[in-house]
Amino acid sequence: MVHTKHGSSALYTVLLGLCFLALASANEEQIQLAQPDFAIYHTKEQILEEVDNIAKANPHIMKAKNIEYGDESAENPYRANMKVVTVEPGGHTHDHSRKIRLLLNYGEHGRELITVEVALRLLQTLADPSAELQLAEKLHGAGRPDLQATLHNTIFKIIPMENERGREMVEAGALCERKNGRGVDTNRNWEVHWGFKEKDYDPSEEFPGEKPFSEPEAAALLALATQFKPHVWMNVHSGMEALFMPYDHLASIPKGKTAQATLEVLEKMNNISCGGRCAVGSGGKSVGYLAHGTATDYMYDRLNVPLSLTWEIYGDTEATFNDCFRMFNPTTREKFEEVVANWANAIFALLELLPMHPAIPKPRNLGRKVEVGAVLPKAVQAVQDAKVERKLGSAMHMSMHSNMTDSARIGAQLFGIPQARKGLVGGVCVIAVLCVGLVIMLRGYSTGKKGRRRRLQSV
Ligand SMILES: [Zn+2]
Repeated sequence: MVHTKHGSSALYTVLLGLCFLALASANEEQIQLAQPDFAIYHTKEQILEEVDNIAKANPHIMKAKNIEYGDESAENPYRANMKVVTVEPGGHTHDHSRKIRLLLNYGEHGRELITVEVALRLLQTLADPSAELQLAEKLHGAGRPDLQATLHNTIFKIIPMENERGREMVEAGALCERKNGRGVDTNRNWEVHWGFKEKDYDPSEEFPGEKPFSEPEAAALLALATQFKPHVWMNVHSGMEALFMPYDHLASIPKGKTAQATLEVLEKMNNISCGGRCAVGSGGKSVGYLAHGTATDYMYDRLNVPLSLTWEIYGDTEATFNDCFRMFNPTTREKFEEVVANWANAIFALLELLPMHPAIPKPRNLGRKVEVGAVLPKAVQAVQDAKVERKLGSAMHMSMHSNMTDSARIGAQLFGIPQARKGLVGGVCVIAVLCVGLVIMLRGYSTGKKGRRRRLQSV
């Protein structure tokens, strides 16, 4: 009897030791968070200066402009700056109605540094005609002038870093910050299904603001898009690899030929620029959650932008909940270079495909007057879709729970525990279960519900 007691206390000690080791390793994982390497990435100041320099060096095709918007009347006054670069590879013109118009937005969420680097690379490529020519050859061999012809009849408005104030917070150390300088997610601030909150709504991730367009960043983009009337709106994000079209707030794409053509363009883009890995389709269906008040839904639904897109260019799905830099940005120079080059070039691949879209003029018609596509059907609210997603989520949870119970029961049957050792085995089991529970809880915090949410909260 005495022997058994000694044996059991030794076993308890070993189990407790193992438990602490497991907990320590789980904690260790959380401590080693990736940090931005500014030998690879540019700082906010460097990148904006570089953008200015490129525009100044290429005045015949580029113009950079700083716009400043503010909310002075509020109790919480707030101002934001935004740089907009206009690029006309065929030379500046006054009448943009005869050109294909692309409005490209980068750096909407502060923590997605990689997207801003893609914008810089795109501007560098547009400034270098030999790089464009090489691209044309790379895309479909020498001797085909399609890309250059399209480029000459295209005007870009590029916002390299929408959320400058949020980016400042990230560079000051808040690596998980996606919102603007006063805590609003500007991609929830648009007046389309604004303010609708899902059951798992997390204000620290997606606070939509006090009212639609309360935020200078969203208001500035709205003014720009209203005046520019783009054929293509592209909102570039990171957190996963995806090529999204409307709707973000519904789990379906719009009906009709125009939307179907957009889907076909994106499917081709997936093969050309994403190695077939990208999720393609409606943001609301493919991202795993519904997002309300997004710019892409507004551009499509209210401003009738025919190709209204969200590109997700990179994500590390293995990164833990609070390892935000790693989750949204490449951490090695090699991967950084690969992602930046690939997604800067992807714009040219898109340009090649645009003429197949019914809302875009064919190459033979370039230079003639270009009208934005017809008025498109309005979105309808589909609270039902959200309910279906929630039901699926809870079914998955139930299934996990019942599997664990089954394993425990099967284990007990397999190992046929004798009656006399019930007390010892009972004690060991309680410690083991507590240990496993604690580790799962800790790991669950890092990679579980909240982790999934933040990993997916990229749009
Ligand atoms: Zn994002």
